[in-house]
Amino acid sequence: MNTVKINGLIILSLTYLGVGCGSSTNHGRFSALTANIGDQSDLCSHQVPASACTRCDSSRAAAFKKVNDWCSPHDLPESQCFACHPDLSFEPLPKAPDDADLKSVTPHPLNQALADIAVKSKVTIIDFWAMWCIPCRKTEGDLNLLLTHNNNLAVRKIEIKGWDDPLVGRYLGGTAKLPLLVVFNAQGDEVGRVSGQKPEELAQLLSKAEK
Ligand SMILES: [Zn+2]
Ligand SMILES: [Zn+2]
Repeated sequence: MNTVKINGLIILSLTYLGVGCGSSTNHGRFSALTANIGDQSDLCSHQVPASACTRCDSSRAAAFKKVNDWCSPHDLPESQCFACHPDLSFEPLPKAPDDADLKSVTPHPLNQALADIAVKSKVTIIDFWAMWCIPCRKTEGDLNLLLTHNNNLAVRKIEIKGWDDPLVGRYLGGTAKLPLLVVFNAQGDEVGRVSGQKPEELAQLLSKAEK
């Protein structure tokens, strides 16, 4: 009996250590079922949007499993698993003002130059983001604050659907991680790029762009 139990424990621990969060078949991918970027909703006692929490309503689980948004080791949606994603947060983000120059765009045709998306006469941040990217959501909050304090700023958001998205090859060459922020000055010249959530680096690029 003891041996069985011990073996069971050993097997469990090995499986757990070997999983590598998000990189194994035991783990799913983030879907929009929990929260889309920019969503504002009430949180339940599990700190998850109340309308999506599977611990509050287990009948919701099937929809998550169907789109592979499921963490089997923790029996939760991947997009609600704080154990695997400790920096996950659904706290409300600062909102952009209603009159902010903020748009989602899809480059079209695929070979459209980023400089053509930049707004002339304004400083523009082009924000490449993805649904599954937690720092992207935090950056969304940073950008909304910047838009609140700077009415000569434009933000254009481009969603990356997956690493096989053709936009990745076209625009993200060499990018280590999302979000990727590309900053243009008012003349339409690129002044630099920031990869990942780095508000200080972004602030430096913005002051360079404003010169
Ligand atoms: Zn809940
Ligand atoms: Zn998990």
